[in-house]
Amino acid sequence: MAVAAALVAVASFATIAPRDDAVQPAAGALIVEALSLVPRELPPPASYIREEQFQRGETLAGLLARLGVEPIQASRLARHRALQALRPGIAMRAEVLPDGTPKSLSFLTGRDTLVRIAPEGEGFRAVEEQAALETRVMMKASVIRSSLFAATDAVGIPDGIAMQLADVFGGDIDFHRDLRKGDRFTVVYELYQLNGRPVRAGRLLAAEFVSQGRALRAVRYQSSYYAPDGKNLRKAFLRSPLEFSRVSSGFGMRMHPIQAKWKAHKGIDYAAPTGTRVRAVGDAVVEYAGVKGGYGNVVILRHNGQYSTAYAHLSRIAVRRGARIAQNDTIGFVGQTGWATGPHLHYEFRVGGEARNPMSIAMPAAQPVPQGELAAFRSLAEPLVARLDLLANANVALLE
Ligand SMILES: [Zn+2]
Repeated sequence: MAVAAALVAVASFATIAPRDDAVQPAAGALIVEALSLVPRELPPPASYIREEQFQRGETLAGLLARLGVEPIQASRLARHRALQALRPGIAMRAEVLPDGTPKSLSFLTGRDTLVRIAPEGEGFRAVEEQAALETRVMMKASVIRSSLFAATDAVGIPDGIAMQLADVFGGDIDFHRDLRKGDRFTVVYELYQLNGRPVRAGRLLAAEFVSQGRALRAVRYQSSYYAPDGKNLRKAFLRSPLEFSRVSSGFGMRMHPIQAKWKAHKGIDYAAPTGTRVRAVGDAVVEYAGVKGGYGNVVILRHNGQYSTAYAHLSRIAVRRGARIAQNDTIGFVGQTGWATGPHLHYEFRVGGEARNPMSIAMPAAQPVPQGELAAFRSLAEPLVARLDLLANANVALLE
């Protein structure tokens, strides 16, 4: 009560003082004016709206407490079936009365549905509906200074888009070995939003990657990626047998592989943490899967024609001899079995049984856009390529 009275007085003087300093207003007039000011300037808080992310290892009751829900209601709510769709990382929004009574709770599920929970009688009622996500097309460009992820982080490109970028150009660029300071890229991608706030990234629509001065471009068309002239970007062989990830990328950057020693070595060594996924660089049949001297656990794949590949020092093998596997399938995991001083993948590319430097071999490409679809492809590709041009030029201007 004392606080309220003080506030009333301040509000009154502020209003009255400029009007006429000389005239002392009557006490009655002061109170009338003050009463009309209180509800306008100091509205009692009807409810609070808070948003908190559900943390890994946290209990539902813990999350509800952080949202300001009082304990009895929180324990009742925590048992509600609708909350089972809540996963770590998802943000929960709550409207809560000053006494801790929840008025409403809502969160977006991984299935893009919006769950709303509101009190009803003694309990709570949940409604789940398709969320009205808006799609925005984003365009961003960045330059490699230390790693691809550092470059995408710097301009707020989501991880999912960074991975798609590495995937799309995986037939041309070995993202563990080929990146150089000053390489740059542009991406055009979808971003899903709810009420104007980003929810998650969608598809990569177009991209440009300038690797050591060589510019590569990709446009998405019918769930494949093509160069603007219609050539397929998917190659018979991936440039890298290691899956590109935040963890493996940082590792590779710190310990640069020794390409100069390739001749004596007959292979390429990829420093990577134990357990990093090793993938088949092309469609193949497993020729060998087991232990072999200094190679330790090794997998040898036979591809079409004269090609075969070997993956050594694996901590674990994930395929059996004779199995048919597709490009990008998991064949094992990085380790240090056999003659290895640290965790790394020893990779060999062989032509007619002879080890060769894969970087020196021209890789055949997959099918281009069919002749009959070229017109449709071009009408889709042109505006995307125009956007890439726009950003590429802006980018160059920035660098100069
Ligand atoms: Zn080696």
